[in-house]
Amino acid sequence: MIRKELLSAALGATSEGVIIASVEDNGKPSKIIYANKAFSAITGYDTESMIGYDCRLLEGLANDSTSVEKIKAAIHSGNSIQLIKRSRAKSGEQYWNELSISPVLDEAGKLTHFIGVLHNIEERIKNQEKIEKQNVQLAEKNRQLDELASHDFLTQLYNRRFFDRELHRLCAFHQRYQTPLSLAFFDIDYFKDYNDCYGHNAGDQTLRAVAEQISQHFSREADISARYGGEEFVVLSASDSDEATFLTHVEAVRSKIERLAIPHKKSKSSTVVTVSAGIYVGVPMRGMAPSFFTKEADRAMYQAKHQGRNRVAVASHVRMVSG
Ligand code: GH3
Ligand code: MG
Ligand code: MG
Repeated sequence: MIRKELLSAALGATSEGVIIASVEDNGKPSKIIYANKAFSAITGYDTESMIGYDCRLLEGLANDSTSVEKIKAAIHSGNSIQLIKRSRAKSGEQYWNELSISPVLDEAGKLTHFIGVLHNIEERIKNQEKIEKQNVQLAEKNRQLDELASHDFLTQLYNRRFFDRELHRLCAFHQRYQTPLSLAFFDIDYFKDYNDCYGHNAGDQTLRAVAEQISQHFSREADISARYGGEEFVVLSASDSDEATFLTHVEAVRSKIERLAIPHKKSKSSTVVTVSAGIYVGVPMRGMAPSFFTKEADRAMYQAKHQGRNRVAVASHVRMVSG
């Protein structure tokens, strides 16, 4: 048998708070018969003054009613219990701790004592909270990076990289379900001359104004507006599945841009800033490269340029052979 003094020294040396309470026969609350130095250090109550107190002091370690109820129930039924909670030290300072209360039974199975072990986990919880806060900040930084990587800085529309990825994804989806996709290609008319005449800053402002009209009009969830290049914009729509409806929308955007009435005295097709647009609506075929959609809409856009600009042209239908 290990010597009692040695056990006592071991309990005195541990950083866990240990408390022992004896169960009274007369139905009175259990009395504290031992508390080690660490228990006193954690709770702020001095060891000597605790001896003889009833173990409701342990309930007092919990300052929320759920924990108190759990401790009471455990003590009453002779079961062990572990809980993590926030307690108030004698000084009033609050700290996170892990408390486990275990019953001790004699040879006949009669409950004689309770042992309570208290572990101050303030540091651990603080570190966890710090890590959680850092994770939230990291997630926000990642979201911002994603936003930067997928958006055009000048217009805040999606960029070409994002658009190409989405076109690829949607082409595969629409090919599988044999549903049509619509793509519009917009290009500002005589924009080089606009820059030369009004300056690059005015050019940037106009790019933003045009982008805003496009993205505001095509604002449904199934629509993607992107800046494809310098003064070129694209819209990919899965919601306007028939050519006539999509053409009406693209024409409405062309008209809205014209009605912005941004003066453009160097334009050969108008007195204001205008756009030419081309559209292509079709069901992606197997083996068809997603760029087929952009190429067809771009081709139609050049037809609109040749026909006098400030208009929308529809790509003539090309039958694809299934691959
Ligand atoms: P067209 O009617 O045939 O489309 O003529 P265009 O002058 O618009 O076409 P072109 O391709 O010759 O010129 C496009 C111009 O777009 C050239 C460039 O100065 C301008 N541009 C491209 N990116 C930007 C930009 O980020 N900011 C500004 N301000 N201008 C840009
Ligand atoms: Mg161009
Ligand atoms: Mg142009």
